[in-house]
Amino acid sequence: MYEGAVQDLIDELGRLPGVGPKSAQRIAFHLLAAESADVGRLVAALQRVQAEVRFCVTCYNVAENEQCRICRDPRRSDDVICVVEEPKDVVAIERTREFRGRYHVLGGAISPIEGVGPDDLRVKELMTRLMDGAVTELIIATDPNLEGEATAAYLARLVGPLGLAVSRLASGLPVGGDLEYADEITLGRAFEGRRRIDA
Ligand SMILES: [Zn+2]
Repeated sequence: MYEGAVQDLIDELGRLPGVGPKSAQRIAFHLLAAESADVGRLVAALQRVQAEVRFCVTCYNVAENEQCRICRDPRRSDDVICVVEEPKDVVAIERTREFRGRYHVLGGAISPIEGVGPDDLRVKELMTRLMDGAVTELIIATDPNLEGEATAAYLARLVGPLGLAVSRLASGLPVGGDLEYADEITLGRAFEGRRRIDA
């Protein structure tokens, strides 16, 4: 629709999650009109995440070191792991201040429709972490939707023989949504009222 550079920018923006063609166009023209210092900061931020941010070798949260801030914190307890789908879910749960254990980020959820199976997620890595016996409780905090529930059921079955306490966040979260859309109080309550699931 547009020429060269402008259309390239619209195309790239349109590939981002949640950005439709109209939004892509709006953002592109906003950037065209912006001060060069503002655009410079955006470019620098993009380059920095590319260069500096990686995934924690232990829990796969985003990290600027080999391990993330949470895995490096000696005050957190090692006996409980909270399993989430994405790094943004770690942020949502941290906001509730209800949890002082460690995390494990799966990198998504099981979805037969999208061709995502357990092997595409960091399930093997989770099992490895559970093998040394230090962890006694697993809290499964996948999203309250079809894929999240399927993933929770799969994990509960898989870790069943290990004899851990396995729990799922209590209901009350907006069904079908993402964990991140729940407000802190609702998510905090769901955490506190988590229910033991038996495989
Ligand atoms: Zn970590």
